[in-house]
Amino acid sequence: MNSARDPRIAVVGAGLGGLALAGVLQRHGRSVTVFEREASADARSQGGTLDIHAGTGQLALRAAGLLDRFRTLARPEGQEWRVLDPITGTALPFPGPVHDEESPEIDRGQLRGLLLESLSAGTVRWGCAVNGATPLGDGSWRLLLGDGTTEDVDLVVGADGAWSRVRPALSAATPAYTGVTFVEAGFDDCDLRHPALARMVGNGSLLAKSAGRALFAQRNSNGNIRAYIAFRAPENWHLAADVDLADEAAVRTHLLKMFDGWDESLLYLLRHNDRAFINRPLFVLPAPHTWEHVPGITLLGDAAHLMPPVGLGANLAMLDGADLAHALIAESTVDDALRAYEDIMLPRSAKAALDCAGALDILVPSTSA
Ligand SMILES: Cc1cc2nc3c(=O)[nH]c(=O)nc-3n(C[C@H](O)[C@H](O)[C@H](O)COP(=O)(O)OP(=O)(O)OC[C@H]3O[C@@H](n4cnc5c(N)ncnc54)[C@H](O)[C@@H]3O)c2cc1C
Repeated sequence: MNSARDPRIAVVGAGLGGLALAGVLQRHGRSVTVFEREASADARSQGGTLDIHAGTGQLALRAAGLLDRFRTLARPEGQEWRVLDPITGTALPFPGPVHDEESPEIDRGQLRGLLLESLSAGTVRWGCAVNGATPLGDGSWRLLLGDGTTEDVDLVVGADGAWSRVRPALSAATPAYTGVTFVEAGFDDCDLRHPALARMVGNGSLLAKSAGRALFAQRNSNGNIRAYIAFRAPENWHLAADVDLADEAAVRTHLLKMFDGWDESLLYLLRHNDRAFINRPLFVLPAPHTWEHVPGITLLGDAAHLMPPVGLGANLAMLDGADLAHALIAESTVDDALRAYEDIMLPRSAKAALDCAGALDILVPSTSA
């Protein structure tokens, strides 16, 4: 094993949490390698917009030395909310903020780009999937890589998201379906190409909901809008309805039936998307999700506490990364650092997961309120 001051640290996953950890460690002169299964930073669209909160995500960005650059890209006006009646399409009262410096929006791709650019060249090993980790008996671990090779390290951090390949070394928990599915729809260059939709969504987010159904749309950068068509249904709703997810027209027809009776202005979100629908059944880990401490290995972000996507997951993933980095810098052994980090992260995420479960019930209520 290497010295406690210079442990071999492997972060599995170059998502927001893993990159925040790597960024803060490097800022303090520590070595770290990030193993990422995707071939490059651009291999996949990074999805919609995230609001980054002052008390969580922004603390992590400050720790990584990126808060000022974040502020040049973030959109405080993105906190505007409009809630519409689903049947009439008219505005309902919503007491939300209009311009909020506390939790401005940023595109996920921009945020990930900021974190990646802050790392020294070669920190991320792209196209390097990790299939699992086995203990070597002295507190160190052997990573099993997708190409059949192995890597021995002093600390493994599973930052590999919902379906973590590191998590089984700590916990038998697996994600369970929430009963809610989001179907994502994308609209490009909306001020010019979809002006009525652009006006309806405004600078921030739009929500309309009834029992078991919700439409949710958010303005992203460059005039793009991303919408989530949300409903309560079995995970395999499309099989039961004999709908081929690759058949755009069949998905649209089925969704229009589900939202029958809703105002035409809202149904625009189902009729005129520019990009293919993406089916996103929502999964969560049990809350609280916890484990007995094991030397030399831990989890952060969705791998540790996958929760409904109601605005906390990315923030907590980055805060976990920053907290773990600070613990590794402050403590004299890896084991002390892991214990200090888990003592903070586990109770914090247990509370957040319960809050998020309640928020999903409000966003997509099972009965009309
Ligand atoms: C539709 C939707 C909307 C959301 N909106 C918000 C929001 O507004 N605000 C918010 O805070 N959160 C939001 N979230 C939640 C947020 O996206 C997640 O909580 C956050 O991305 C978790 O970050 P992470 O770093 O833990 O994991 P991820 O972002 O999932 O990153 C994991 C990384 O690990 C890599 N990986 C996976 N397996 C392996 C492997 N075996 N080997 C190597 N690499 C691997 C992946 O390719 C990925 O790069 C949303 C989620 C969804 C689905």
